[in-house]
Order: sequence, then structure tokens, then C-alpha cells
Amino acid sequence: MTVTLLDATPASAAAPATTPVPDKPSLIGLDRQALGEALAGIGVPERQIRMRVGQLWHWLYVRGASDFSEMTNVSKDLRARLDAAFTIARPEMVSEMISTDGTRKWLFRFPPRGAGRPVEIETVYIPEEGRGTLCVSSQVGCTLTCSFCHTGTQRLVRNLTAEEILSQILVARDRLGDFPKGEIPAGAAVPSEGRLVTNIVMMGMGEPLYNFDAVKTALLIASDGDGLSLSKRRITLSTSGVVPMIERTGSEIGCMLAISLHAVRDELRDELVPINKKWNLAELLEACRNYPGLNNARRITFEYVMLKDVNDSLADARELVRLLKGIPAKINLIPFNPWPGSPYECSDWEQIEAFAEVVNRAGYASPIRTPRGRDIFAACGQLKSETERLRARERAALEASAAGRA
Ligand code: SAH
Ligand code: SF4
Repeated sequence: MTVTLLDATPASAAAPATTPVPDKPSLIGLDRQALGEALAGIGVPERQIRMRVGQLWHWLYVRGASDFSEMTNVSKDLRARLDAAFTIARPEMVSEMISTDGTRKWLFRFPPRGAGRPVEIETVYIPEEGRGTLCVSSQVGCTLTCSFCHTGTQRLVRNLTAEEILSQILVARDRLGDFPKGEIPAGAAVPSEGRLVTNIVMMGMGEPLYNFDAVKTALLIASDGDGLSLSKRRITLSTSGVVPMIERTGSEIGCMLAISLHAVRDELRDELVPINKKWNLAELLEACRNYPGLNNARRITFEYVMLKDVNDSLADARELVRLLKGIPAKINLIPFNPWPGSPYECSDWEQIEAFAEVVNRAGYASPIRTPRGRDIFAACGQLKSETERLRARERAALEASAAGRA
């Protein structure tokens, strides 16, 4: 466990309080059927399965239990059997950083579970007026290589499991004190008022549609009305454009969709978002038009990173408006977040505003996304590798202070 040292930034770091997950299969991230099978596997009689699944579901996802001993309405004998065979422990929290603007970033380490090495991933919490958004990772690194994205410069280590995706939400809620305290009768409705994590965006590390099954399982559990109860309208999945999986995202997950568009001409998009060579703009926009459940109240968000002199001309803005004609859309302009060695600069502020003006005049809401948590490297496209850099710095600082003491 490391307490992150932030010598040059005003953010504060808090000591983690979680312990490593033991090497037993986890019950987190199993759907009801798989949970039932797990219970049958340790000898729970068939006639009790439904009831026991309901109890476990409530403890895991309404109460946020991370130890079987908390499950007071489950018999001691069954708790002991569950504990012998399974875990519901949280992943190890390597660090927690809190920005001066309230943004938090966690680095989690997941055990290898069988073959492979432990992996580390990041999750970011962004508090805003009246809501709080959790930015969740779907993969360690990314196989795609968008030229402006730092995650894209990393080697993919692996897909995250449903457990690991869901655990990001559970630990964030633990740390924020977002699980209800005190007695709640089993089966009672989950309070939706006063929550800190109100929205989930699959916009952390990785391409969620290249890890469809695990992302689907995790999001269906997150939106389950007898558990975490996050509304599907408050869950947004962002994709760089894995066209064949877009229809299934709508029909099988039913969440909101965001598209990393970033360019309005194929030639430029091929360069910025190379998956465009596989599925071009026309194919991508066609899939968007057909997104299940799309209407004026459920629009697709088009993300557009503002790169100086690359994609930020007013002609581009006009072409953007033309391309999206007929699609219920929101446009999200993202100031480019530079990283060491990045080949682009962020557009000038006046240019971003002029671009937004063209888009607004065409009737689109086009919020400019304010960069958050920059002091803790929590902004879009900065995840993971910046932490590695910080940790190298931390090691150097510790070595220097150790040398000073010697
Ligand atoms: N892989 C998915 C989701 C993760 S990226 C996707 O690409 O959609 C989340 C958003 O951050 C995407 O729109 C991505 O294009 C954007 N992004 C990546 N790097 C960025 C950077 N350096 N500055 C600003 N936005 C960036
Ligand atoms: Fe992967 Fe998204 Fe980054 Fe592209 S922008 S490299 S798809 S994480």
C-alpha cells in the first residue's frame, strides 16, 4: 500500500483503508443466475436458492457489504460456508487523491486470479452541482491507438471482468459514504435522493465495446432496481465507434450512448481515431441513427476533442452540424488535455467558443467540458500513465528523503 505523495500539487492524499482481495472466486459481478449456481455449488438446497440470491443481492448492492459477517439475516452456518468458498472483499486501493476542485481519483489493484499479474486501473469521481459522476474503466490500457489519447499509448494488459468494473462503483460509494447506513428492511426501495454517485460514464481507460459481455453484466447489475438502482438514463457508454456492437448496446444494455467523433472527414478521423479505417463515418452515423430507444429525450452525445489547427475550424463546425442532421444529438466539446510528448495543442479558447457558437446556432446544446481534477491528472485521456509517472516521482522523493536521513 502506498500513500501517494503529491509534492508539487495542492491536492491532498488520503490513506487507503481496504485490504487485498483473497484468492477466492468473488460473488461480486455475478448475475442472479450465476449467483444461484454458486450457491447450489456449496450445497444450498434448490428450494432456498431464490430467497438466498435475493438476500445476497440486497447485502451486496443495497447495503454495500464487503464481508459475509455483515449479513445478519443469513445463518451463521451459511455465512461460514460462503466465506470458505467465496469472497466479496473490495480490491486493494493503492491510492486515493483528492483534487482542490473535489475531484477524486483512485488507483485500484486487482489480484491476478489464476494466471497473469496483478493489474492496476483508475477510477475518477467528479462532483458537480446536484450530481456526481463516476468515470469507470473497462480495460487495462486500450488496444486502440487514438493519436491524442494517452491511454492509447499503453499496451493493453487485459479486459476487466464484470467484478472489477462493478467494484469501481462499490469502492467509490464506500469512500464517499454513499451506502445507506442503519437498518433498511430487506427488499425496501433504494433511496435515490441524496446520493453522491448519481451518474456513471464508461469513459475511463479502455474501449468498452471491445469488452462487451463484462461491461453489459456490470451495467445491468448497476441499474438493477433491487440493487444499486442507477437509472439507465444516467449511465453513459462512450465508444470510439465499434459499429457492430452499437445496436446490442441499445437493445441489451439500454444505456445512453456517447460517440468519440472528433473529426468530420474520414481522412482526418482515420488519423485521430484509427478504428475509423474499419468502420467509417457513414457507417458509424448510420448505426447511431438506428440506436434503439433514440428520441429527443434520449439523445446521443457526440464528443469532440478540440485540437488546435487540426479539427477546430468553423468549416468543421458547419460540417459537424450537417453530418448530425436528423440524429437526436448533444455535442460535447472537450478541450484537449495535453500529456508529456503529445503531438497536439488545445485549441485557443476564443476558437472553442466560436466553434460552439456555430453548433449552438444550429440548435444543439454544446457544453464545453470543463477540465476537472487536472492537479491530480484525472482529466480525460490522462488516466493510468500519469499515475505511473507520479509514482516514479514519489519513489524518487522517498529515496531522496531516505538518503537525507542516512
Ligand atoms: N474508449 C472510449 C472511452 C474512453 S475515452 C472512447 O474512446 O470513447 C473517453 C473520452 O475522452 C473519449 O471521447 C476520448 O476521445 C477522450 N479523450 C481521450 N484522450 C483525451 C485527451 N488527451 N484530451 C481530451 N479528451 C480525450
Ligand atoms: Fe482507447 Fe478511447 Fe483512448 Fe481511443 S480514446 S485510445 S478508444 S481509450
